[in-house]
Amino acid sequence: MTARTRPDLESIPTYVPGRNFPGAIKLASNETTLGPLPSVAKAVAEAVELAHRYPDNRSTELVAALAASVGVAADHVAVGCGSVALCQELAQITCNAGDEVLYAWRSFEMYPIVTQVSGAVAVTAPLTSGHVHDLDALAAAVTDRTRLIFVCNPNNPTGTAVGRRALEKFLDAVPAHILVVLDEAYFEYMRFPADDFPDGVAIGRTRPNVVVLRTFSKAYGLAGLRVGYAVGDPSVISVLGKVHVPFSVNVAAQAAAIASLDAQAELLDRTDAIIGERARVRDGLLAAGYAVPESQANFVWLPLGTQAARFSTESAEAGVLVRPYGVDGVRVTVADPHENDAFLEFATTGPGSAGFAAATRSETQT
Ligand SMILES: *Cc1c(COP(=O)(O)O)cnc(C)c1O
Repeated sequence: MTARTRPDLESIPTYVPGRNFPGAIKLASNETTLGPLPSVAKAVAEAVELAHRYPDNRSTELVAALAASVGVAADHVAVGCGSVALCQELAQITCNAGDEVLYAWRSFEMYPIVTQVSGAVAVTAPLTSGHVHDLDALAAAVTDRTRLIFVCNPNNPTGTAVGRRALEKFLDAVPAHILVVLDEAYFEYMRFPADDFPDGVAIGRTRPNVVVLRTFSKAYGLAGLRVGYAVGDPSVISVLGKVHVPFSVNVAAQAAAIASLDAQAELLDRTDAIIGERARVRDGLLAAGYAVPESQANFVWLPLGTQAARFSTESAEAGVLVRPYGVDGVRVTVADPHENDAFLEFATTGPGSAGFAAATRSETQT
């Protein structure tokens, strides 16, 4: 007889790793192409000398460095094993069985999973026909069971972002007892006019029900080491500590994150090259007739509808791995120029390109 596990977990899809083969151009996971800086690699090597000791469970030094970096006191910061772990912990501290977690769809694929794992009920609101968060629809979907709202800004997988004024209007409409998570995994890639720049930490300063999530996995290039962080009111941050899996941010991860903050200017400079490529990739697609929403992240979204799976299979056959999302579209990471060129060649000159471009136009209204 097999052991009894929760039957409600059966409907969570089993994780299927993305396809990969030697020589493939991997544009499927929004990683950076450059490896760690020498100073970061050195910090990791030194930290490994201490691998026989438990890590600092509270990541004291990293928390202090992050607090100084974003301009808050240390009790406003929590660190997690990737910001995905913090998403899960935020659901754990807000939801009992039957409570509601609200988010737009399509958005980050972890939201439905952490919701279900916590025993809560997912409630979704559609994106606009331009693939942007519909914050009015999201506010209208709040009920007296809503405990947690995820707003992914910029949104994964569509790349679109909402500005500061729109976010503040939304937050004004949400009851203050509901925790709102601004997931800013791609914060460093946003380019907005200064007066509308949606910096969640600034927005959250006067709103204790706002928690901001950021990560070292994307612009900081440490996806393999697993460090993310939350910035919020101490009343929320202290409760996060209660559900934290002990020692889950390891010594190498803490050291790498601290060294990366020391090299922050150099690492953030790298985002300018990606932003230049982001414009070039999108322009190339637009010129070939695709409808592509404006991206504020390190990827672009092709709203291919039912053509998504075929596009991704044919792209892989052309040596370029992209990420398909059901019958909604395909997300393509912006990477090095020669990799982006290989993708553009497939998407704009391949045999199916005219049909694919037409599919994106019929999935988009402007
Ligand atoms: C990549 C990503 C994360 C962060 O992932 P971690 O590697 O766990 O820090 C969080 N949210 C979104 C929307 C992402 O795309």
